[in-house]
Amino acid sequence: MILADMTWKEVEALDRNTVVLIPTGSLEQHGAHLPLLTDTLLATGVASAVEQRIPSKVLMTPGVWLGASGHHLNFAGTCSASVAGYCEAITAIIESLARHRFHRFLVVNGHGGNNSPNDVALRALKEKNSNLTLGHVGYYVYGEKAIAEVMEGPDKGIQHACEAETSLMMHLHPDKVRTSLLRNDGLRTDPPTKSLVKMWDEVSEEGSLGYATLASASKGKTIFEACVAGVVGEVEAIHQGVVYVGIF
Ligand SMILES: [Zn+2]
Repeated sequence: MILADMTWKEVEALDRNTVVLIPTGSLEQHGAHLPLLTDTLLATGVASAVEQRIPSKVLMTPGVWLGASGHHLNFAGTCSASVAGYCEAITAIIESLARHRFHRFLVVNGHGGNNSPNDVALRALKEKNSNLTLGHVGYYVYGEKAIAEVMEGPDKGIQHACEAETSLMMHLHPDKVRTSLLRNDGLRTDPPTKSLVKMWDEVSEEGSLGYATLASASKGKTIFEACVAGVVGEVEAIHQGVVYVGIF
């Protein structure tokens, strides 16, 4: 079910075991070839497909397009919340729906910069409301195996406007990909480091990071289906009711 399309009386009548699915993204630069809304489009695309497959178990909110994207602000058009402001928005969405007696929430994230704030926000909520079932995950986590299998470039993970993310956009929104502008991009520190916090114009010339020239719609379809199947499985588990048993 799609929250934005419902009336309040239709929402009031819902089973409160329904899993609230909250897609989170960003409005941030994605290189020269992908639109600013990419992360939101992909997180919402995965969540929508999940909703279509198991509609009675899902209540999907609109995609949250204002992310924690301060590290991309040196590129024109990027809009960002502060980390605290982003946490407050996610908290407000969950607290609002918890007030309406929903108690199962899954944040499906499309922007890496939201991962830490999602964790901070949900941990704080859980400490105050231990009755809530709260989860957050990057949709792409469920596509890791598929990504590693179909990527032709040396990078076998998802980066930013890269082979994997560009492939997903070619599958879901081919009209929004500037195929004539595809390029491989990404800068490393010299000497090598592993610890630095970076602004994105320090690690990329045009804003992308990865081998976008190798992207294709068919790779995108494979990755997308894996991600949707993974999120469906997560929702099914939460909907069934998770209990902690034995020792692992
Ligand atoms: Zn992205």
